[in-house]
Amino acid sequence: MSLGVQKDAILRFAERNDITITRWFKEKQTAAKSGRPVFNQMLKALRAGKADGVVIYKIDRSARNFFDWDRIGKLADSGVDVHFATESLDFSSRGGRLSANIQMAVAEDYVRNLSIEVIKCQRNQLERGLYPFSAPIGYLNNGKRELKTIDPVKGPLVKQAFELYGSGQYSLHSLRREMAKRGFTKPSGEPRSKGCFEAFLANPFYTGIIRIRNTGEVFEGAHEPLISVELFERVAEIRAGKSGKKITRHNHLFRGLFACGRCGRSMIPERQKGHVYYRCQFRECPRNCIREEPLTDKIVEVLSANPLSDQVIAAIDKKVAAWAKKHDGSDDTRTHAMRMAQLDARLERLEDAAIEQIIDADSFAKRKQKVLLEKAALETARRKTARFHQIPGVIRKFLERLKNLAEHYIFAEPAEKREIVEIATSNRTVKDKYVSVEPSKWLKETRDALAVLSCPHHRTTSRTDHNRTQDEEAHLERLAEVAESPDVARLFDLFMDGYRNAAVDKGDCQHDHDSP
Ligand SMILES: [Zn+2]
Repeated sequence: MSLGVQKDAILRFAERNDITITRWFKEKQTAAKSGRPVFNQMLKALRAGKADGVVIYKIDRSARNFFDWDRIGKLADSGVDVHFATESLDFSSRGGRLSANIQMAVAEDYVRNLSIEVIKCQRNQLERGLYPFSAPIGYLNNGKRELKTIDPVKGPLVKQAFELYGSGQYSLHSLRREMAKRGFTKPSGEPRSKGCFEAFLANPFYTGIIRIRNTGEVFEGAHEPLISVELFERVAEIRAGKSGKKITRHNHLFRGLFACGRCGRSMIPERQKGHVYYRCQFRECPRNCIREEPLTDKIVEVLSANPLSDQVIAAIDKKVAAWAKKHDGSDDTRTHAMRMAQLDARLERLEDAAIEQIIDADSFAKRKQKVLLEKAALETARRKTARFHQIPGVIRKFLERLKNLAEHYIFAEPAEKREIVEIATSNRTVKDKYVSVEPSKWLKETRDALAVLSCPHHRTTSRTDHNRTQDEEAHLERLAEVAESPDVARLFDLFMDGYRNAAVDKGDCQHDHDSP
């Protein structure tokens, strides 16, 4: 039926029923696949109270499937007047609704028949383990009849999302934030929607199984799975609220954080007689099992090994100040500004010359690029100079906070503890009763720098002293990089969360990270 005819029918209906049409919504017939954006817009506008009701041309226009139908039904329940231009249906009465439901079922059947040929072809592919629809996030489309392959960028991120959620330490909300930090965002850089997470966490495609949502049919996929069935089921249980709540967060403290020193598999927590044990469940390592307490002790030991007395901090402060002064080049700032103005003027003259056709397009492009490159180099130099103004403050703050790393850990909430462990330590293994934990790369580098920089200067002029100055400068540079790194920023964010938590009275004002 052409749109003109539909519009006429709606207008006539509106006239008969004394309805004023304030806005038209027109969905393309092919919009079913793309999630029917106009239909959704219409529902949104109605829910927002933009109109008293809606006139729909015909039932199969309003609802291609039961899901849409259900949403229209809910709309009617919430007090919106739902009219159909070509059917005499009274949506507000029970009989009217029933009749509408029957017509809807007929419409659904009709639509289904239309696409039966498409379905035949799809079924053929499904039976061969191919997924004839667009790839779920984390996989790549390789053409209509080709296997989906794991997206080298998003695939590992989707896997991480399953693992994090499966740890029981994350709500959907905190998972979204964490994954955004790890780079799993919309193209705009915003966190992906809750709906996106809900959809992929419930999609068994990632375990190698193809499930058709509408019909519930299941096919064995030929694509490479991204996660284990076990992990998928754990996630499903947590989603359903069956798991994760019963086991206290404390049980999970080191879940996935320690590896078996014999086979490298993850140490799995379990609760026995009031104690939490971590055990390697590989049958070849039957005795590799340890209580949680020695793990905690080891973590605290590694975190507290920062030799940062007030004297050390003061000594390093001095060296940082001298180093920054040497490089900050306050005189340079003016030179930079002048040089930048010169380049801008040159660019302008160049553009004028191009407009007046004194130079041809080709040489204009070449010369312009040269100026732009010079500008970029200058900007880099300027930023480097500016950085040296701030660095003494940044390093001092970093060291003072680092001094209390172990204390912060001890008083942190379990989820924060896990993050501190992940950021500040590495190579966590258990072999028999021996626990091994190393400081993470940045923490190790910081300690190396501290060891070198906390030695007092000897006033000699030997060659070794020259080497030593160079060595010190390299450590200062590294210290500055660490102090400005995202890992350290995140770590101190956690500390600040800790302070906020301590500042409120926990009895009646629980700080909830997950409230929107
Ligand atoms: Zn093992």
